[in-house]
Amino acid sequence: MRDNIDGHHLLIGLMAYPIRHSLSPQMQNISYSKLNIPYVYLAFEVDQEKLPDAIKGLRALGLRGSAVSMPNKQLVCQYLDKLTPAVEISGACNTISNDNGVLTGYNTDGIGYMRMLKEANVDVIGKKITIMGAGGAATAIVVQAALDGVKEIAIFNQKDECYKKIKAIAKKLNKDTQCKVHITDLDDKKQLRKEIAESVVICNATGVGMKPLENQSLITDPTMLRADLVVTDCIYSPRKTKLLEIAEQQGCKILNGIGMMLWQGAAQIKIWTGEEAPIEYIKEKMGFKDQ
Ligand code: NAD
Repeated sequence: MRDNIDGHHLLIGLMAYPIRHSLSPQMQNISYSKLNIPYVYLAFEVDQEKLPDAIKGLRALGLRGSAVSMPNKQLVCQYLDKLTPAVEISGACNTISNDNGVLTGYNTDGIGYMRMLKEANVDVIGKKITIMGAGGAATAIVVQAALDGVKEIAIFNQKDECYKKIKAIAKKLNKDTQCKVHITDLDDKKQLRKEIAESVVICNATGVGMKPLENQSLITDPTMLRADLVVTDCIYSPRKTKLLEIAEQQGCKILNGIGMMLWQGAAQIKIWTGEEAPIEYIKEKMGFKDQ
């Protein structure tokens, strides 16, 4: 692929720290090669201190755009010219598009989750869902789901900083969208059971189920899960979390975090290049087939 890079290629960055472990450069560059389009994607170690200069550099060098990850997702918003409604509400951006010098901030995590459901023929529009978690992933999903037309979202989280933050976001969504959003303490298992019974989809958007909390699940009583419930987990390592194991045994349809990850990247490809991502090819090349 490097043999083909010429003076017409456009650069797309990834600004985060730490970032060397990221799968995004591989996913993006595989896609550009397959689509035969003149883009190159590189990861840059950018922390909060370096971020203002990195954005100036993006403008000066005319990068086509950049992905943004921790710890920069909130901070970056103040350096951009325009924000999508999802970024306005959540205060978090993971994608910058540079359109002739105008920088627009997007958040594709929630878009990726919703697309993952759609691709799996799971319809949540006009229906109720339950989400465990209130951090970055949960917030992106809640905001996008509300904007897309989900009728009601029940959020459960432990009483930490995230709880307070998502409460403020829920207030905005209740005011600005048709969606009814409410948050409950994760310890209230009786309420969790009730909300799940009324939901078509549940989502684990906490770190419970991955290292160092592997083999743990926020739901341990299988009777909380009925067979026609769709159970999703944002975690993709391990591929099948304890929650998904329990759900599978109950006969539920299960979806892990690979789909969300791939479709959020696909949304970025669409924003930067206008092209549909070659998703099946990406899965094959990255070893995600049938996962
Ligand atoms: P975060 O740090 O912003 O939020 C963590 C969340 O987990 C918070 O709601 C916190 O209250 C909760 N939590 C942490 N420890 C807990 C415990 N012991 N019991 C109950 N709740 C607990 O993290 P994030 O960025 O929102 O990521 C959450 C998960 O989603 C991670 O597993 C991450 O790998 C995954 N994720 C996946 C994708 C994807 O594309 N598939 C994208 C982003 C995040």
